[in-house]
Amino acid sequence: MSSTFLGMPARPPRSPYGEGHLRGDQAFPQAAARELGNRQLRDNLHKATRTIRAKRLAVTAELPDWEELRSAGAALKNEAMSRLPELLEQLEAKVTEAGGTVHWARDAAEANALVAELVAATGSREVIKVKSMATQEIGLNEYLESQGVTAHETDLAELIVQLADDRPSHILVPAIHRNREEIRRIFLERIPGVDPDLTSVPAELAAAARAYLREKFMTVPVAVSGANFGIAETGTLSVVESEGNGRMCLTLPKTLITVMGIEKVLPRYADLEVFLQLLPRSSTGERMNPYTTLWTGVTPGDGPQEFHLVLLDNGRTAALADAVGREALNCIRCSACLNVCPVYERVGGHAYGSTYPGPIGAVLTPQLAGTHAAKDDPNASLPYASTLCGACYDACPVKIDIPSLLVELRHQTTERTGRGAEQLAMKAVAAVMGRPKLYRAAQKAAAIGRIAAGRDGTISRLPPPLSGWSESRDTPAPPRRTFRDWYASEEGRRALAAAAEHQDLDETPEGER
Ligand code: SF4
Repeated sequence: MSSTFLGMPARPPRSPYGEGHLRGDQAFPQAAARELGNRQLRDNLHKATRTIRAKRLAVTAELPDWEELRSAGAALKNEAMSRLPELLEQLEAKVTEAGGTVHWARDAAEANALVAELVAATGSREVIKVKSMATQEIGLNEYLESQGVTAHETDLAELIVQLADDRPSHILVPAIHRNREEIRRIFLERIPGVDPDLTSVPAELAAAARAYLREKFMTVPVAVSGANFGIAETGTLSVVESEGNGRMCLTLPKTLITVMGIEKVLPRYADLEVFLQLLPRSSTGERMNPYTTLWTGVTPGDGPQEFHLVLLDNGRTAALADAVGREALNCIRCSACLNVCPVYERVGGHAYGSTYPGPIGAVLTPQLAGTHAAKDDPNASLPYASTLCGACYDACPVKIDIPSLLVELRHQTTERTGRGAEQLAMKAVAAVMGRPKLYRAAQKAAAIGRIAAGRDGTISRLPPPLSGWSESRDTPAPPRRTFRDWYASEEGRRALAAAAEHQDLDETPEGER
């Protein structure tokens, strides 16, 4: 019998260290402390997230089958993830059949080189861009710049960020941290020929951007986009947006290059019915987004005559290989979880150091890029950037259980790093909680902590090794007596009897009282 050596089985590769934007330069606690000092940022975030939250709640409450839609979205994404290899091959065949060309990129370096090569082949030194998380993730603009190609962002907020040499801080509203006056100043400084009397009235700012972009739409022959969905059944790609800039980029240039994360594939065209309801309501709080562009390969005489689809892995198969963490790949980037997150609302997106901020970023980034590519990898702190309040789970249109994923990632980190003090402390707590007598004695002993409390009943400073805890939060003084003691006391018995009587009354039909 002959044998073929297939190589050693290996874990799928993560996104490589040092390429793209999946890693900041500071751990979350330090980056968050830095951002917390920015009062303007907090005010802008508070106002914007509160407005979007209210709109989302209003439009999702209108649909009697909203919960069923969420379940359908989750089921479809789970199906897509479980059939990913097969669906991607089907997508490739259909795109090719329709006149497009499909390229596969293992990581950011490969994707960037591919796009640069495709642009170079057109002879253009400029590209126009539709807002895209995938190209942001791989740092495409910076790479193109290093190759002498200028990428012009055409989404208004993305343009503001680009002109300011800034980084996006929100998935949907990248310039959420900027106010109108800041934007006016950026336009005056960076847009050539802008009216020097430009005011900060939104309509005037939008008109200034429109005039600048119109010239790019009409002259640049190559566009680069992301994709919200890719349909395996038909080879159709889709971009969902609000400003019409996407429609211009996807229809006017001669060449269109789309970079799509492999997790964006959906099995059937009919699946769009579910996602085109879930996405706009969850992201912008609109019943329907103004522009949905769908295209399949190329159509002679209509739209781009050359179409390239770059299918990007960059750590996605590594995430898929994690039985628990793979759920994060179901994300449709609506940003609803960011808008309800109390941590994100205070620190903003830059503190997460990644293209993907907020609750989904705290689970997706460590999975795509890993957490120990470098000593003190900042990504290792991301799963701890949450209060685990659960608001993100309630808001997510595809029911991603982000809090459980965060806990699992924390568990994996602790298992791997074997943090001595933390593990010992947890073992000690488990030993005490498993022995009722010891637990009662520990509760009684904890009452001594009342001595450390101030007049306001809180302990502001604990001795090492607990000082890390009290550095950022107050601890309530232990109660005078435990719940068990109260439960067994005369007062406890009376309160329980009164509660039982009250419940009996509530359950008695009105006429019988
Ligand atoms: S995790 Fe859910 S709520 Fe958050 S961006 Fe993704 S789809 Fe939206």
